[in-house]
Amino acid sequence: MVQEKGTISINTENIFPIIKKFLYSDHEIFLRELVSNAVDASQKMKRLATLGHYSKDLGELKVKVAVDAAAKTLTISDNGIGMTAEEIKKYINQVAFSGATEFMEKFKEAKDANEIIGRFGLGFYSAFMVAEKVEIQTLSYQDGAEPARWTCDGSTSFEISEGSRTERGTDVILYLNADSEEFLEEHRISDILNKYAKFLPVPVQFGTKTERVPDGEDEEGKPKYKSVEVDNIINNTNPVWTKAPSELKDEDYLDFYRELYPFSDEPLFWIHLNVDYPFNLTGVLYFPKLKNDFEVQKNKIKLFSRQVFITDEVKDIVPEFLLLLHGVIDSPDIPLNVSRSFLQADSNVKKINSYISRKVADKLSELFKKDRKAYEEKWSDIGIFVKYGAISDEKFYEKAKEFLLLENTAKEKYTLEEYSIKTKDFQTDKDGQLVYLYTADAERQDSYIQEAKKKNYDVLLMNTAIDTHFIHHLETRLEKTSLKRVDADVIDKLIVKEDTAKHTLTEEETTKLKAIFDKAINNPAMKVEVESLPTDAMPVTITMEEWMRRMKDMSRMGGGMNFYGAMPDNYKVAVNANHKIVSKILAADEAQQTAMAKQSFDLAMLAQGLLKGADLTAFVQRSVEVMG
Ligand code: ADP
Repeated sequence: MVQEKGTISINTENIFPIIKKFLYSDHEIFLRELVSNAVDASQKMKRLATLGHYSKDLGELKVKVAVDAAAKTLTISDNGIGMTAEEIKKYINQVAFSGATEFMEKFKEAKDANEIIGRFGLGFYSAFMVAEKVEIQTLSYQDGAEPARWTCDGSTSFEISEGSRTERGTDVILYLNADSEEFLEEHRISDILNKYAKFLPVPVQFGTKTERVPDGEDEEGKPKYKSVEVDNIINNTNPVWTKAPSELKDEDYLDFYRELYPFSDEPLFWIHLNVDYPFNLTGVLYFPKLKNDFEVQKNKIKLFSRQVFITDEVKDIVPEFLLLLHGVIDSPDIPLNVSRSFLQADSNVKKINSYISRKVADKLSELFKKDRKAYEEKWSDIGIFVKYGAISDEKFYEKAKEFLLLENTAKEKYTLEEYSIKTKDFQTDKDGQLVYLYTADAERQDSYIQEAKKKNYDVLLMNTAIDTHFIHHLETRLEKTSLKRVDADVIDKLIVKEDTAKHTLTEEETTKLKAIFDKAINNPAMKVEVESLPTDAMPVTITMEEWMRRMKDMSRMGGGMNFYGAMPDNYKVAVNANHKIVSKILAADEAQQTAMAKQSFDLAMLAQGLLKGADLTAFVQRSVEVMG
C-alpha cells in the first residue's frame, strides 16, 4: 500500500485560524468553491472527450452534494477528470495552497482587512473554514490510474494513501467542525446552492424528489400514474444569457425574469449583452417597473463568472444610474478575487461600465425611434433612469438628448428640441432668455398654473425625486434657458417681458397699504410688497424665490447645504395694487382694513397649501361669519 506523509510548504503556520476568523461572514462560499471545482472537472472531461482524448463512456456528467447527518459529513462528488496521487500533490498541495498563501500575503499588505475579506476566493482551501478534516477520494480518467486518497486536518501536514474510488471522478468529504453543523441542515445547503449554483453549466444534484409519472392504463382504459423517486437537480444549465439572442423569443426572456425574481411585476423591456472583445461579457438587463422605494430595489443585478454566482453588489461594475436595473451579468474577465479598490481602478471594469451605459442608451434610442407612442407610455418608469443617467454620465447625456422627454401638466411629452420650439414665442424674456416654468405639485400649485396659462405659458411637471438635480443639470446644458417654479414669483416677474409696469397708487397709498398688510399678517417671515399685476389676477399672491426654495430642497435631500435648511421659510407676499379690493381696503375703516387684508392673505395662503392648523380653523370660522 502506497502511503506518504508530508508537510505542505507554507511559511505561515497559523494560516487557518486567520482564514476562519476573517472570512467568518462569508463561510458559505466554501460550497461555491467546491461545487465550482467539481463543475470544472466535469467540463474538462467533456472537452477531453470532444477532442478525442477519451474513448470510454463519458456517462452522464453530474455533480452531487450529499449530507450525512450521523457522520457529520458533507460530500461533493463529481465524475469529472479525477486526479492521480501525483496530481494531488501538484494541484492540491501546491497550487491550492499557493492561493491560500497569496491570501495571507495580501492580508498582511492590506491596510484595511475589509479590503480583501469577502472578495477573496480561496478555492479548495476554503473547505477548512467549516471542516476540521477534509478527505479527497479520487480516480483519474487516465488509463491504468490508481485511486488515491488525501486527508488533511487543517494543519500544514497531509497524508496521501491508496484510495477506494472505483469510478472516474472525485469525492471531497468534509468532516464538519462543531461550529459548522448548520451545514448539515438540508434547507441551509439548498439555500446556498440556490444562491450560487442555480445556473451552473453541469447538473447539480442535491437529494431526491418524488414525481408522478404515467404508469399504463387501468381496466377502464384511463391513464394510471405512479410516484417515483428522482434526482433533485437544482440548476438550470442553460440560462438565457448563455444563448444567442436569435434563438430566443420574448417569452424566454420573461420566463427567465420570473425565475430570477419570482414575485416581481413584468419588466418593461430588456437588453441582451454580448461582447467578446476587448473583454468578455454576456448578460441580460431588464428595465423593471419602478416602485417608489428605490433603495430597496438596488442590488438586483446578479454578477456571475462562468455561470457561478459571485455577488449582487455590482456597484463597481455597473454605472450608478443603472443600479436600478435587474438581470444578470456574466464575465470571466472581472477580477473577482481581488479587493474593491483594485476593482475600481481596473481598466476592464471601466470599459465594462461604459459598454453597458452605451448599450442602454442605444436600446432606449431604438425604442424611441421605433415606436414613440409605446416609449412615451413607459416614460414614467424609464424617465428616472434617463434623467439620472443624463446627470451622472456626460456621454450618456449626449445620446439621451434625443430621447429625453419633458412632460407638461397636460401630460404631453416633448424632446428638448421640441420643447424649446414650443415655448420660444411666449416664454422668452426681455433679455432673450428662454424661461421654462415647472411645478412640483400640480394640485397644490394650481392657482399659479392657471395664471401661467392665461399668459399662454406652458408648465412642466417636475415631481420626481430626481428632478431638483435634473433641473439644475438642464440649466447648465441648455443655452440661454433657465427654469423657474410657477410659484417662484408673481406671473409678470416670472418672465419679465418689459421694464416693470407702474401701478396707479401714490407713494403714500403704497406705504399705507403695506402697513395695513404687515399689521394684519404680523409675521416677519412674510415680506409684503406692493406690485402691479393684472386686474384679474389674485389680490394677494405668496411666492418663494427660486434660489431659496432650491437651496431648501437640496438641504432637505441631504445635499450638504444645511445652512439653508435651517433658515426659516421666507415668503414674498405680493399685494396686487391693480385689484379692486385694494381700493376698497384703502377706503375702509381701520378694523375693516385689517379684516379684509387678513382674509385676502389667508386666501392666498390657502391657494399655496400653506394654511394649516389653528390659522385654517380661524379662517373657516371668519368666512362663515362674513356670510352671516
Ligand atoms: P482553482 O480552482 O482556482 O485552480 P482550487 O484551490 O480550487 O483552485 O483548486 C486547485 C486545483 O485542484 C484545481 O485547479 C484542480 O486542478 C484541482 N481540483 C480541485 N478540485 C478538483 C476536482 N473536484 N476534480 C479534479 N481536480 C480538482
